[in-house]
Amino acid sequence: MKGAGHIILLGAPGVGKGTQAKVISADLGLPHVSTGDMLRASVTTGSEMGKRAKAVMESGALVNDEIILGIVSERLREDDARNGVVFDGFPRTVVQAEGLDRLLSDIAGVSIGHILHIVLEDEEIVDRLSGRRVCRDCGAIYHMRFQPPKVDGCCDRCGGELFQRDDDQPAVIRHRLAVYMAETAPLVSFYRGRSGYAEVDGNGTSAAVTDRIRGFLG
Ligand code: AMP
Repeated sequence: MKGAGHIILLGAPGVGKGTQAKVISADLGLPHVSTGDMLRASVTTGSEMGKRAKAVMESGALVNDEIILGIVSERLREDDARNGVVFDGFPRTVVQAEGLDRLLSDIAGVSIGHILHIVLEDEEIVDRLSGRRVCRDCGAIYHMRFQPPKVDGCCDRCGGELFQRDDDQPAVIRHRLAVYMAETAPLVSFYRGRSGYAEVDGNGTSAAVTDRIRGFLG
């Protein structure tokens, strides 16, 4: 199957990219490629890259484009990425988007099939991020108010411990939104004219947003 091609999820931190990426990835049988998850994993293992990325991530700033393009390039060359991947949190700068175009022409696999821009107001974003909890073991995402786990602090799916990301603290959230406006929002004009670009209303339950996305994916 040639499939949908690569899928890019655009949108500010907290609009639901991670939650939706997991669902789309299961729907289409494409790997979920979250640069944030990959960086957090390297921080946990204490690799050289993880040591360098840790402080940058805690401050809410962006990790260097070259490092990001390096990890994405490696990931795209793996076998399971042949029919496309669901990107989550990548690209985040125009330099990364240009780098991705170059990578895709080098690798000669599938191209970008869909660019889904999830749109949500700032106030709602801060609410969602400050209530977010993540399972330390399986990465499942919860919200203290909108999608609480059945047992406090405990993952419904695997029983793992739920934690709050260091960068989901209010001061860091504000900084991440400012970084998004300065560095990532310009990607909207970069991609808007391309085929497969669509704006998705990010309001409502995650199931409602998934339905809208499925409508675009066909
Ligand atoms: P996320 O899980 O996507 O919210 O990413 C968490 C943090 O990892 C971000 O605030 C950045 O510091 C870093 N990060 C993740 N993806 C990228 C990227 N594509 N470019 C630069 N930094 C990134």
